Amino acid sequence: MRKIFNQRAVLCLLAAGAIAGVILASEDNAVRAAEPTLETFIPGSHVAAAYGIKREGKRDHTGIDVVAAVGTPIAVPANATVVEVSDEFRSEPRYGKAVVLKLDDGTQVWITHLDSYSVKAGDRLSAGDVFATVGKTEYMKVPHIHIETWLDSGVNRQVDPASVWPFLKG
Ligand SMILES: [Zn+2]
Repeated sequence: MRKIFNQRAVLCLLAAGAIAGVILASEDNAVRAAEPTLETFIPGSHVAAAYGIKREGKRDHTGIDVVAAVGTPIAVPANATVVEVSDEFRSEPRYGKAVVLKLDDGTQVWITHLDSYSVKAGDRLSAGDVFATVGKTEYMKVPHIHIETWLDSGVNRQVDPASVWPFLKG
């Protein structure tokens, strides 16, 4: 009788261990999916110019530049809504094509110098959705995207994109 009990106890422990293992594994996956990296954002890219750097003959850098080959896909790092798409953003040829995203906390993200985009205003994106590709305007030597981030409200609305998406620290 004792032997049967022990076998049951062992089986119970094994089952509990297996269930715990499954739960831990799925939690691990969820954490990984929730934390975007530069590689999941734009594969093969690197950060070339940080926010606020001084530039000779120009105003301080108003965004972060991420360099990658023309046509490299861009995946949205967090759930977002498309608020605007443009072929000549703000009527500024230097911006080129752009997509403006609104994150769930209201922060707006401008992603400019695109080669193409596959979304329209009002589209809802889930983290990981590819919505555009890296481009190059006639004003730049190396293909890259320029990212600006603007808080929903406040006096100093423009903020460092790396404070919104830490993987942009480079
Ligand atoms: Zn820039």
